[in-house]
Amino acid sequence: MGRSGAIALIRQFCLECQGASSRSVRSCPDARCPLWGWRLAALPGETPPTPEEDAVRAALRAVRRQCMNCAGNRREVRACQARESCPLWRCRFGVRPRTYRAVRRRFFAPKALRLF
Ligand code: SF4
Ligand code: SF4
Repeated sequence: MGRSGAIALIRQFCLECQGASSRSVRSCPDARCPLWGWRLAALPGETPPTPEEDAVRAALRAVRRQCMNCAGNRREVRACQARESCPLWRCRFGVRPRTYRAVRRRFFAPKALRLF
């Protein structure tokens, strides 16, 4: 596999969707699936559907759309319990896992008390 991160996770998800058949992933007819344009992008020699420099961010957005379709709303995506079973789980917020952790740390960090 030529790529890592969200693009590789999409590939894994598509393989699971199609019973581990590369051929079926390639011929997947569901062009409305948010991951469709990305299903081959992890393979050497295949190009992503967006310019190379935007590819990782665009793939993360595609994952987010997939998760919203799957779970129905933001709250359910946040509460998704498929940590062990879904390849997309780590990227379900549409950002890199480390970005999400950093935002959470900032959000929950103790704040100075303002008394006026
Ligand atoms: S593009 Fe969507 S429907 Fe097609 S194999 Fe991937 S996850 Fe399944
Ligand atoms: S991570 Fe959860 S919400 Fe996203 S596709 Fe997988 S099971 Fe669905």
